Amino acid sequence: MSEYILPGQPPVRVTLRRSAGARRYSLRVSRLDGRVTLTIPRHAPETKALAFAREKAGWIRQRLAERPEDVAVDVGVQLPVDGMLLTVARGPRSQVARAERQLVVSTRADSVPAAVAGLLKARARDRLAEASDYYSRKLGKPYVRMTLRDTRSRWGSCSTEGALMYSWRLILAPPEVLQYVAAHEVAHLAEMNHGPAFWATVERLRPGYETQRQWLRQNGEDLHRYRFSD
Ligand SMILES: [Zn+2]
Repeated sequence: MSEYILPGQPPVRVTLRRSAGARRYSLRVSRLDGRVTLTIPRHAPETKALAFAREKAGWIRQRLAERPEDVAVDVGVQLPVDGMLLTVARGPRSQVARAERQLVVSTRADSVPAAVAGLLKARARDRLAEASDYYSRKLGKPYVRMTLRDTRSRWGSCSTEGALMYSWRLILAPPEVLQYVAAHEVAHLAEMNHGPAFWATVERLRPGYETQRQWLRQNGEDLHRYRFSD
């Protein structure tokens, strides 16, 4: 791996990645952190790769400009929760106030973002436990436990022992998407792979899952732009 700075305003850092499997040059701009990666065939000359990057400079800057900005969670910020757009506010006690369309943080809480993260995790736990129970019953296979994390690399996982793990940020996605991820992980209790039998199981548990899978592919990274630290 090597880095190259694309001149211009502003200068753009491009990471060169050589790959034995790559047949041609491909550029990727991460929506998550704005990192620009140029993958090239293992033996391709570097000068050619850099010329390619310079040629695509306009496209790269366009992609970077389109990238959504990070949102520091605080009073007044709006968050999609469970399919509702809620505004963070201060109040007598921390709660999700659906009618007021507010995510209320107790005035006694020291940190607003930490309190909001706490509310979201609790809600995510309820929804994901409910969904996992539902699909596990439908499949006829129990899981051993469910844990929540904040992982960037995956939305969920299922171990060979039958332990389910989910990202609590799924509570920021439309409810159907959370349901799909639960059905997907529960389906792994029967099929520990992504073969045709696995996808047939997902379809049986949750017919028409494809739109939700697509949503996650296209918008999933946006759920990581909310920052919950002070
Ligand atoms: Zn899977």
